Amino acid sequence: MLTPPIGILGGTFDPIHIGHLRPAIEAREALGLAEVRLLPNHIPPHRANPFCSSEQRLAMVRLAAAENPGFVVDERELKRDTPSWTIDTLIELQRDLPDTPLCFLMGMDSLLGLPSWHRWRELLDHAHLVVSTRPGWQPDYPAPIAELLARHQTREVADLHRLRHGRIWLADNLPIELSATGLRALLAAGRDPRYLLPAPVADYIRQHGLYQPSVGSSAEEGF
Ligand code: ATP
Repeated sequence: MLTPPIGILGGTFDPIHIGHLRPAIEAREALGLAEVRLLPNHIPPHRANPFCSSEQRLAMVRLAAAENPGFVVDERELKRDTPSWTIDTLIELQRDLPDTPLCFLMGMDSLLGLPSWHRWRELLDHAHLVVSTRPGWQPDYPAPIAELLARHQTREVADLHRLRHGRIWLADNLPIELSATGLRALLAAGRDPRYLLPAPVADYIRQHGLYQPSVGSSAEEGF
């Protein structure tokens, strides 16, 4: 007998914002997810991104989770010294939770880019994929993704409860035209980020002087 599925949302979260949180809340409601795990990715220090340290990104994710019932933080990727492949994290989670279907949440941009992911064809052996709409990213699928959908898409919520992995759900969430890149540009321009991210996260950013013009780049544009 399986327990209800959980959602897993991986991301850089630099910073976490409503474009991450609203689709995750809506997926939790629509699919009856027992919880949503926010999984901050480990980013090598030499990469241009992230703008904040792992500790700061984690602190902001914790603040966001604290005000959302059913949201928890999974720190496993940050605790490692090297970046993790999503496939390895899913295999590990499946071992930890053998009776729980896993729903890996992602935006449409991530689905379209999936063929560049390490061992991407194996992801569905370990989790379902739940894909949120994202403005600017049309469901204009390249051939390998169209094939994947033809074989794995479901419109039955029950499939995500009765099977541990292997189905793709295309969500009908409220589209939110926001990216962390756009939010950083807004902050770097000294503008007010209110309602684009949780208030405690906005307070943390202000208190720590994050994403200020001297830290980030004001050349970034758009949301
Ligand atoms: P950046 O602008 O720094 O690249 P981002 O805002 O795209 O960041 P990530 O942390 O890279 O955020 O994204 C983590 C996950 O959240 C990805 O699966 C991405 O598709 C999804 N996501 C981010 N923003 C949105 C959004 N506005 N709507 C739907 N999904 C989103």
